[in-house]
Amino acid sequence: LLDIRSGLNNHRVVFGGVELGKQLLLIGGHCTVDPKQPNKFYETADALKEAGVQALRGGVWKPRTNPYSYQGDAKALEILMEASRRTGLPVNAEVMDEEQLDLALDAGVHMLQVGTRNALNYSLLRQIGKKIAGRDTVVLLKRGRHLGPVNEFISAAEYIVTFGNPNVILCPRGTLPGLEGYRNHPDESITPLLKERTWAPVVVDPSHSVGKSTYVEACSMAAVAYGADGLCIESNIDPMGGLGDDPKQAITPEAFARLAKKCRAIWDLR
Ligand code: PEP
Ligand code: MN
Repeated sequence: LLDIRSGLNNHRVVFGGVELGKQLLLIGGHCTVDPKQPNKFYETADALKEAGVQALRGGVWKPRTNPYSYQGDAKALEILMEASRRTGLPVNAEVMDEEQLDLALDAGVHMLQVGTRNALNYSLLRQIGKKIAGRDTVVLLKRGRHLGPVNEFISAAEYIVTFGNPNVILCPRGTLPGLEGYRNHPDESITPLLKERTWAPVVVDPSHSVGKSTYVEACSMAAVAYGADGLCIESNIDPMGGLGDDPKQAITPEAFARLAKKCRAIWDLR
């Protein structure tokens, strides 16, 4: 058992050329990769690389509240992987079931995301744990958005690592009910609690926490002040033209570059 609570197994996760804990990891990209506009994603990827991100994110299959909203498209997976080849950056995509998991692993997705809605889907967590055993795939496990104890979050991560691949990262992304004016209740402040109890790195998602592009920078800076090892941020060269959450919460690559500078300055003060 690779107990992530114990200090016995002080595993170091490496992703995007960054040893987590040694340097701030910045992941950026669209909420959703639009299969009809591949160039938009390639342009965002280039601009984000320029802004200093070490990895890209982009939703292929989306867990939408409304069944009539865009649900995703496996074509987006090819675009995501092409962006990875063009930039040399590893990529993150969410998987929600075994079929998506197999497609993502076959395509070479470097970081699998478990979203907030599946954060306690133990059969999915086990499938992921089993399939990534023996590979260097990393899992970004979002915190369940229902108010829950930190222990439940850590135990969910434990499901993945028990199968032998310890590359799991904990991702606070806000909880329900939302703080009035925010999309969720921002929870970057649980970072020190997580870090006290496990050796797993913490990468905060300020975008879904606050749900509004103009609040993302402050939440990011707070996360780094609280001890976060990295940030995963929705960003788009054309937020208003994006799919999914981007019109509300994506920041531009220029804003990302400013945020990165401020967050690195806070990192250096720690
Ligand atoms: C996302 O990252 O786009 C997403 C759907 O995240 P969450 O599961 O945190 O809502
Ligand atoms: Mn999103």
